[in-house]
Amino acid sequence: MSLCVVYNHPLDFFSFAPSACAPTHTGLLSCLSAAQDYVCTLQGSHVICTCCFQPMPDRRAEREQDSRIAPQQCTVCLQPFCHLYWGCTRTGCLGCLAPFCELNLGDRCLDGVLNNNNYESDILKNYLATRGLTWKNVLADSLAALQRGVFLLTDYTVTGSTVLCYCCGLRSFRELTYQYRQNIPASELPVAVTSRPDCYWGRNCRTQVKAHHAMKFNHICEQTRFKN
Ligand SMILES: [Zn+2]
Ligand SMILES: [Zn+2]
Ligand SMILES: [Zn+2]
Ligand SMILES: [Zn+2]
Ligand SMILES: [Zn+2]
Repeated sequence: MSLCVVYNHPLDFFSFAPSACAPTHTGLLSCLSAAQDYVCTLQGSHVICTCCFQPMPDRRAEREQDSRIAPQQCTVCLQPFCHLYWGCTRTGCLGCLAPFCELNLGDRCLDGVLNNNNYESDILKNYLATRGLTWKNVLADSLAALQRGVFLLTDYTVTGSTVLCYCCGLRSFRELTYQYRQNIPASELPVAVTSRPDCYWGRNCRTQVKAHHAMKFNHICEQTRFKN
């Protein structure tokens, strides 16, 4: 948790909230947390957390020399996030920045996870539920497969230890989950699922968001026709 102590702050003398650390502050300001002990300088620059919109002292340059300073930005999109620095306090924030393997994607991360196709996503959800598995198992197994080179990510620099924001983490999780689903043997899925013919557009199909079409055709497959 964060503790941001402001001395002689012109607006909020006794505030201990991080929100008191306004980038425009003119007072002498000290931002403390359990892990970091740091005093903002008068001219010290701040970055705004993309999640809670609160400023934090910008120590990204320092971090390049000293890895003990917590990461303050996503490795992929480079947007600043405060969660690893002092714990993001936005209501509903699940932890907006973390190593991919530790990212809390939330219980709804499997909704529409497969190509935004709710029907296919529900098939996977049922498969997991009957085995007592959750998205955490999918992530852990997929990251292990990624490490073995069995699964692939578009951004090949991303591994389980890459520090990611929630959005970039979810995007990579969706890519991995598709491969996880692809690797489930047909024998472990209901006949009603495996007996459907493949849609010609496969995973790229734009009609698969419609329930009737999604139910009638399999979309866990590559596009086989109408390719340019
Ligand atoms: Zn500050
Ligand atoms: Zn990101
Ligand atoms: Zn934040
Ligand atoms: Zn946050
Ligand atoms: Zn289709």
